[in-house]
Amino acid sequence: NSKAVATPTRTKEILQTYGFSFKKSLGQNFLIDVNILKNIIAEAGIDRSANAIEIGPGIGALTEQLAQHADRVVAFEIDQRLLPILEETLGSYDNVEVINQDILKADVARVIADHFKPGQPVRVVANLPYYITTPILMKLLMDQLPIDSITVMIQKEVADRMAAEPNTKSYGSLSIAVQYYTEASVVLNVPKTVFMPQPNVDSSVLHLEMREKPPVEVEDEEFFFDVVKATFGQRRKTLMNNLARHFKGEMDKEELRSRLEKINIEPSRRGESLSMKEFADLANVLYK
Ligand code: SAM
Repeated sequence: NSKAVATPTRTKEILQTYGFSFKKSLGQNFLIDVNILKNIIAEAGIDRSANAIEIGPGIGALTEQLAQHADRVVAFEIDQRLLPILEETLGSYDNVEVINQDILKADVARVIADHFKPGQPVRVVANLPYYITTPILMKLLMDQLPIDSITVMIQKEVADRMAAEPNTKSYGSLSIAVQYYTEASVVLNVPKTVFMPQPNVDSSVLHLEMREKPPVEVEDEEFFFDVVKATFGQRRKTLMNNLARHFKGEMDKEELRSRLEKINIEPSRRGESLSMKEFADLANVLYK
C-alpha cells in the first residue's frame, strides 16, 4: 500500500478490516498526521546511521516512518491484537522488529546488544502511552542504558515539568530528576486533532539528549534526590521549614541554619528557586 498508515482514511480502513477497538487503559491514541511524524523524526535526529527503539507502535504510524529513515528499528508493543496488523503495515520493511512485551519488563540493554550494530547511535522515539509516561522515562534514564537520546510525544503538562527552569510553576523534583541525566527541551506543541481518538489532554514532543555525566557532583545520588523531594515537599513553605520537617530528629533548625550558611543559601528561600547546582551543594552539605 503506497499510502502512509498515518492518514485518517488508511487508519480507519485498517481498524475496520481488523475489527480493532481502542483500549483506553493502554493509552491508545494513534497519530493520523504524517507531517507531525516527519517533524518528530527530524527532531529526534534519525538518519540512516542511527537505530531507533519505539515504545508502543500501535498500527505502525511512526514505525513506518522510522523504518524509512533509520538503520534498524525495534518496537515494543504490549497489545498482542496489534501484531497481525503490524505484520501487514510493516511487512515490506526488513529493518523492523516488533517485540510483544511490556516495555517496563523488557531487558532493553539486551535488545540493543542483540539488534543494533555497535558504535551507532541509539535513539528512543515514541508516542508514549500517557498512563505510564514517567515510569517509562525513569526506567530509560536510570537503567544506565546505552541510549543517546529520547524524543517522545507526551502530555504537555508533564513535558513542561520535565524541561522546566527554576522559578517557574512547572519546576519540581521531576525537572531535577530528568535534567540530572539529560538536556531537556520541549520541541513541539501538538494539537489534539492529530490523534485518533483525540486525547483529553494537550500534547507536546519532549527531546532529551543524554548527558555523558551528570552536570553536578553529588556525594550520594539517593540522598540528593531525597533532599530535592523534601525541598519541594510543601511548595508554599520555605526551604528551612521543608528541611526541618524532613530531618526531624536528625538535625535541628540551628544545625540546618549553620549548614545552609556554609553554602550561602538563605533559609527563607523556596525550593522552586534553587538551581541544580544549589541542590547539589545543599545535598552535599547535609550529607554525613
Ligand atoms: N505509535 C502509535 C501511534 O503513534 O499511532 C501508537 C501510540 S499509542 C499513544 C501508545 C501505544 O503503546 C499503544 O499501541 C499501546 O498498546 C502501547 N502500550 C501501552 N502500554 C504499553 C507497555 N507497557 N509496553 C509497550 N507498549 C505499550
